[in-house]
Parts: sequence; C-alpha cells; structure tokens
Amino acid sequence: MTQPGLLDLALVRLDEAATHLQVDPDVIEKLKYPRETTKVRLMIRMDDGSRKSFLAWRCRYDDTRGPTKGGIRFHPDSNEDEVETLAFWMTFKCAVMNLPYGGGKGAVSVDPRKLSKAELERLSRAYIQAFARIVGPDRDIPAPDVYTNSMIMGWMADEYSQIVGQASPAVITGKPIALGGSVGRGDATARGGYYLVRDLASELGLEGRTRVAVQGFGNAGQYIASLLASDGNTIVAVSDSAGAVYSEDGLDVDLLIKAKADGKSVVSTAGVRGHREISANELIAVDADLLVPAALESMIHEGNAASIKAKVILELANGPITPEADAILAEKRVTVLPDILANAGGVTVSYFEWVQNKQGYSWTLDEVHDRLRTIMVREGRAIWEIAQEKRVTWRTAAYIHALSRLAAAIEAHGTQP
Ligand code: GLU
Repeated sequence: MTQPGLLDLALVRLDEAATHLQVDPDVIEKLKYPRETTKVRLMIRMDDGSRKSFLAWRCRYDDTRGPTKGGIRFHPDSNEDEVETLAFWMTFKCAVMNLPYGGGKGAVSVDPRKLSKAELERLSRAYIQAFARIVGPDRDIPAPDVYTNSMIMGWMADEYSQIVGQASPAVITGKPIALGGSVGRGDATARGGYYLVRDLASELGLEGRTRVAVQGFGNAGQYIASLLASDGNTIVAVSDSAGAVYSEDGLDVDLLIKAKADGKSVVSTAGVRGHREISANELIAVDADLLVPAALESMIHEGNAASIKAKVILELANGPITPEADAILAEKRVTVLPDILANAGGVTVSYFEWVQNKQGYSWTLDEVHDRLRTIMVREGRAIWEIAQEKRVTWRTAAYIHALSRLAAAIEAHGTQP
C-alpha cells in the first residue's frame, strides 16, 4: 500500500465528523475529491537574462456555498497534494465561519527568498496570466498565504485588471490599502485567534496570566505574540525555520520583531535581554499554558506530541497536528482549537475586504475588529456547545458544524452535481 498523502489524512477528520451526523452519502462522496486542480509551468525571465520555469497550481475544491476562496503559497516544497489539502481545509473553514464561499488554494513551487523583487513581480504576474480564466471576483478569489504578502496581491490584482480591461479589486484579497485592501487584514489571522482565546478564556480554562510558546514567527506568529504580550501574558518561547529562543521571564517581543524586519532569525537575539537559544523540539515541550503552532503542516506528530505540556493549543497554521498526534493530545486532555476555526480570522477579514470592494466603500478599523470579534466568538461558542453536547474534541465539533452547513447547501442544490 502506498503511504497516505496529506489529503488522505485530512479526510480522516471528515469521516469522523460524519459519524456524528445523519448525512446523505452523496454529500461525503462530493466532499472527498477536489472539483478541479490545474497545474501549469510558469516561465519567467530572470534578471541575468536567462529563463527559468516554476510549477504552479490552483485548486477549486468545492464551490457549493459560493465562489472558491483561499490563498496562494510560494514555497519550495509545495506540491499538488498539499494544495488540494489546503483547499479542502478552506472549504471547511469558510463553512465554519458561515462565509458565502467554497474553498480553493494555489501555490508556486519556489523559494521566493532567492528571487529579486523584479523577478518576484514577474512570477506573480505570470501566475495570474496563467490562471486568469480560473480566478474571478465571483468565481475564485485568491489571497496571501505562506511567503506571499500584500505587495504580491497588489501585483496580481493589477495584472488581472489589465487582462479583463477594467478595475477588478474584488478578484483578490489581502491587497495593499492603496489598491482597495481592507484595514485590519494584516493581523487578522492572529487577531481572530486572539479573540477566541481571550473571549472564550473561561470555557478554555485559560484565565489569568498565560505563558505562551509560539512556533513559527512569520505574519501570524509575530502578531499573536504582540497581541498576547500586550495583554500582560508572557511569551516564553518562539521559533522560526533557523531555531528557537526561550526566556523563563518572558521574551522581548519587540526585539524579536525587529530582528525579523532586519532579515535575521529570532535566534540572533540569543544572549540579549535574557534570551537563550533552545532547539525546535524543546520549544514544543516548554512549560507553557498555551502553544501556538504558526508555521507549516504536520509539525506536531506522533514523535513529539507526548512531550507537550501546554493545556491549550491554538492552531494558527493550517494542519499543524497529524491525526496520530491528535489522538495522543486527546488522551492527555489537551484542548486543541482547530485551524479551521482558530486561523479563520484571515479569511473572514478577506471576506470583509471583498464586500467593501463590491460596495465601493471602506469600513473603519473599529468596524472590522467588531465584526471579526462577533463572528469568532459566535462560531467559537457554537463549536464549544457541540463539543460539550456530543462529547467530542473541538476539532470534531468544528467539522460537524461545517459539515452540517455544507450538507444543507449540497442538498439544497438538488440533483444536479
Ligand atoms: N491563506 C489564509 C488561510 O489559509 C487566508 C485565505 C484568504 O484570506 O482567502 O486561511
């Protein structure tokens, strides 16, 4: 038997949720496979005059609840299985939050750190040229993901508008504010998770000062560390792809953010203000109340889950815990706030951006924060109630919640596939 892929592992969660609901087998059959995945080879001119090609994908997993929605990742390890899995998670994430979207995802197999800014712009524009017939403001709406950002979204929106011959900001979210981006999109992923932890603190048994470890120090990791530190919590450990640092009394978060802004690793702060270097495995096992995986998939697995001391895990990354690790954590009574709820703040503010673009109107930061908070708390509490009532984990409860919305939509569409 071949090794199960990432999508096979993700589907385990769908099967688990289905055992708690009366769903038509047709619904499961529809949700088990991506609707369409397109793979292309992008050719761009490098600064030295040579040409280089990169593999790229866009997957529209399911569009029953609306146009497909999901980010574009630039990463050297990206592959078709990962893109389809991420698109599957987006389908469930949008249903959890009751956003009028299906799920999609895109990727380019590239290390963007090895490209100049001009090369990166050519690659981003080439992506949209290749997928112009797939994306669209009412069809498939990309956004940032790992190693992509607002600058890249701006180039992509501009390229799309040139191709269709009219301004079309709603085709992509996470744009710079000057090109129709929304205030509050930058920190939205972390902020959504922060509202969840803060406003559901009593349900989570996390009241009082919390000791926090953050794995991954990109967009989500940096903002969650700042938000939690500004509330008086102690950030005891953080890591990035080069290593980790620890301080019993709390790390200096501003110092860490400055190191990243200067293009350095968090490890470069070791020796300053009581920061001490530790290994990536030690970070997982530090004595913290809350562990925040904010990097890539499958970072918490069979081999390290048992060492976790935190009582709550906030999944800001997509898919950071394997199903085997989930079972170990459930046994240890660790509460896992699952990705499709915990990191849904990003796509929720993306939805706000799309609504504003369609209306030609901009909201204030307070409006964005209030609406985000209302939705996070509403869906978080609904999931907590399902978890209590059915005696299941938060993850299974989140899948049940999403699956019941997806099933209702699939059934309402009638007999047409
Ligand atoms: N890439 C983010 C995610 O995984 C955001 C997607 C979006 O805003 O469409 O949720």
